[in-house]
Amino acid sequence: MLHFSRLRLVGFKSFVEPAELIIDPGLTGVVGPNGCGKSNVVEALRWVMGETSARQLRGTDMDDVIFGGTTTRPPRNVAEVTISLDNREHTAPPQFDAAEELDITRRITRGEGSAYKVNGKEVRARDVQLLFADAATGARSTAMVSQGRVGALINAKPAQRRALLEEAAGIGGLHTRRHEAETR
Ligand code: ATP
Ligand code: MG
Repeated sequence: MLHFSRLRLVGFKSFVEPAELIIDPGLTGVVGPNGCGKSNVVEALRWVMGETSARQLRGTDMDDVIFGGTTTRPPRNVAEVTISLDNREHTAPPQFDAAEELDITRRITRGEGSAYKVNGKEVRARDVQLLFADAATGARSTAMVSQGRVGALINAKPAQRRALLEEAAGIGGLHTRRHEAETR
C-alpha cells in the first residue's frame, strides 16, 4: 500500500506561506476553529491527486486555488502542492516503482494551467491520476467524503443511497450491464 507521509503547500488557498504537514502512520485528525483552513488541506490533497473540476474545490475557475490576497497581503500568481508517498513496499505503478519515496507535485500559474512532476521529472496529469486510481485513493474516489456529503447521504432517497453504496462496493457497472442485457 502507498502511504501519505508529508504534504507541502505554498500559495494554495489560505496557505500563502509554505506549510508542511507530516502524516504519521495511523489515523490523522486536523482540528482548528472555523475558517482556519482544514477543508483547504483536504482540497490540496484532492488537487495534487489530479482533480480537474474547480467546483469540487469550491471554486469557479481552477485559478481560484491560488492565494487570492487579503486586505493586508497581495495575491499570488503560483500555487504548489507536493504529496510525499512512502513506497517502501514497492506497490507504485511500474514507471515509478523503483523509488522508495515518491514526491508528486502539482503547480499552477495564473492563466497558464497546471504542471505535474514525480520526483522532479515532468509527467502528464493522466500519469498522476492513474497512480492514485491504482492506489484506490484518487481525487474522485468514494474514499474522499467531503463536508456536507454525510448529511446529503442521510437525507437522500433510498434509491440514491443504494446507488452510492453500490458505487462504494464497486458493483455499479454490473447493474448498468444487466440493464443493457435485459433491454436487448
Ligand atoms: P470549517 O470549520 O468552517 O469547515 P475550515 O477550517 O474547513 O472551516 P476552510 O474552508 O478550509 O476552513 O478555509 C476557509 C478560509 O480559506 C477562508 O478564510 C477563505 O477566505 C480562505 N480561502 C479560500 N480560498 C482562498 C484563496 N484562494 N485565497 C485566500 N484565502 C482563501
Ligand atoms: Mg471545513
